[in-house]
Amino acid sequence: MEMTCIVCPRGCTISYDLVNGEAVNITGNTCPRGKTYCENEVKAPVRTITSTVRIEGAEHNMLPVITSAPIPKGKIFDVMAEIHGRKTQAPVKCGDIIIKDVCGTGIDVIASRTMEEK
Ligand code: SF4
Repeated sequence: MEMTCIVCPRGCTISYDLVNGEAVNITGNTCPRGKTYCENEVKAPVRTITSTVRIEGAEHNMLPVITSAPIPKGKIFDVMAEIHGRKTQAPVKCGDIIIKDVCGTGIDVIASRTMEEK
């Protein structure tokens, strides 16, 4: 089987065999991070989400946000719906928690830039 490593822009094509739900005989990864990515992607795929949340009282209408850690791939649509349904208020500092424990994942959605009050 094959997958593309998305850990860095090089995008190595990784080949592996699937045995008892685990990736074995992993080749094609240029660095060890690719092996770890492949093993995790087979067992429990996760993604870091970047998006925007509506913000009032700032010079822009949308605040860039990011999850504080990768979330399980199966929760992506729920998390995106929660993010898109939210609105926040300026001022916001980079790193402020905008949504705590999003969708019960234990992971927060945090501001990825500062926005002052206008
Ligand atoms: S295997 Fe290493 S070099 Fe290749 S894409 Fe993944 S992180 Fe980048």
